[in-house]
Amino acid sequence: MDAPTRTASVTLTHRFADAVPEMAVAWRADEAPTPELLVLNDALATELGLDPAFLRSPEGIGLLTGTAPPVGARPVAQAYAGHQFGGYNPRLGDGRALLLGELTAPDGTIHDLHLKGSGPTPFARGGDGYAAVGPMLREYVVSEAMHALGIPTTRSLAVVATGRDVVREQILPGAVLARTAAGHLRVGSVVFASAHANASGDRDVLVRLVDHAIERHDPETAAVTPTDRARALLDAVIARQADLIARWMLVGFVHGVMNTDNMTLSGQAIDYGPCAFLDAFDPGAVFSSIDRQGRYAYGNQPGIGEWNLARLAEALLPLLADDTDAAISVAQDALDAYRPAYNEAWSVGIRAKLGLADAREDRDEDAVPSLVTDLFDLLAFARADYTLFFRHLATAARGDAAPLRALVADPGPLDLWLERWLALAPDADAMDRVNPLYIPRNHLVEEALAAASDTGDLALLHRLTDAVRSPFTARPGLERYAEPAPDAFGPYVTYCGT
Ligand code: AMP
Ligand code: MG
Repeated sequence: MDAPTRTASVTLTHRFADAVPEMAVAWRADEAPTPELLVLNDALATELGLDPAFLRSPEGIGLLTGTAPPVGARPVAQAYAGHQFGGYNPRLGDGRALLLGELTAPDGTIHDLHLKGSGPTPFARGGDGYAAVGPMLREYVVSEAMHALGIPTTRSLAVVATGRDVVREQILPGAVLARTAAGHLRVGSVVFASAHANASGDRDVLVRLVDHAIERHDPETAAVTPTDRARALLDAVIARQADLIARWMLVGFVHGVMNTDNMTLSGQAIDYGPCAFLDAFDPGAVFSSIDRQGRYAYGNQPGIGEWNLARLAEALLPLLADDTDAAISVAQDALDAYRPAYNEAWSVGIRAKLGLADAREDRDEDAVPSLVTDLFDLLAFARADYTLFFRHLATAARGDAAPLRALVADPGPLDLWLERWLALAPDADAMDRVNPLYIPRNHLVEEALAAASDTGDLALLHRLTDAVRSPFTARPGLERYAEPAPDAFGPYVTYCGT
């Protein structure tokens, strides 16, 4: 057996804290009364150069809960602002989270190692600083699914039960999630630094934050002056978020709480709270109990992305030009790139989902746009299961339309559409490589989390995680993981995910 001797070899840097100390509060995690490792992401640990055997040891669990950070680490709570459901909050920050530090993987890439649920910080406001087992396992399984789907995302390294009771509507077992990310800088981080600049007349923090962001996410940029670097960062974030949100839409993902503090500069999806995957296709789908107006409904996400990026552009105004009018025009120019970038990413993706990835001389390419529009009208009308629809379409392309037709109440309009689509000679095998069969369906997530929190039984969670880690390959024994929720499951609501 490997002796757990790797403690000293875990080196965490503190680049963020060094770059913008004004936005970093040195803090320590709370002790975990009786820590118990619930899940460890062995593959991710290995990718990061961390020894899974060490992480399973008491010292490793001390790292994963933040109670025994490596020598030289400087854990901090990060300050950020944010627009929550459109309302500005100048001071959010890590209320129950810590940036332990940055880790350099064997391949040279740099990752934040971050904890969620590690105890109250000076940003906790009214919150208790803790997290419950269920929501942390939800983040674990959903972020793993997103990663397997090829969607940029933070990753989950481990969930450790702390042995502490957490008081919500009921008393729940507490947990800490250890997650990794290309970075935890958010739109709200820039808004925070910008507010400081506007209040004090000193742009220094904002300039350093932009420099740090570029160092982490866009080191190849040629931009040198603070003005050019701010513009380069803005352009890059707009491009990444357009791509990310297009991917969400293509896979039927509803983030649920797209506040500006939950939108990264890295372009990775972050904070899996009241998120869910569509079952029946519905542009108005909302799963979050707190989203009463449907602000973050499935179909609103591209527009909300643009709104959030406008807040980023606004926050960068002090750097974008010397006078305000000129800065606004630069910001507008940058934002104008969002819609075309989103549309392009979505169009490329939907063509792939329909097995029409490559434009072909022998195909009536002009027929594609209206085919796509008509498909989404049809899906919205029929409320068909979004995920199965595309899998069964491939089956229809192979000659068997029965499973597809069974997804809709009236197959008449679908048959007409199918005829037009089949005339374009779609590639069924290519479709199966981009259309998932296994997603973390809401009823499956709930049953796995309930078993884990109620009885400590993690078998269903492991099974679900295994299924969604290979989302495109049908495997015997996983039939129920490909099926929609039974009617008895009813309309799905998630409660804030805290
Ligand atoms: P979220 O929308 O879940 O990402 O969180 C929004 C803000 O609330 C962030 O500043 C979090 O740190 C903070 N927060 C959420 N839950 C808690 C909690 N239980 N205790 C302290 N702060 C929290
Ligand atoms: Mg958040």
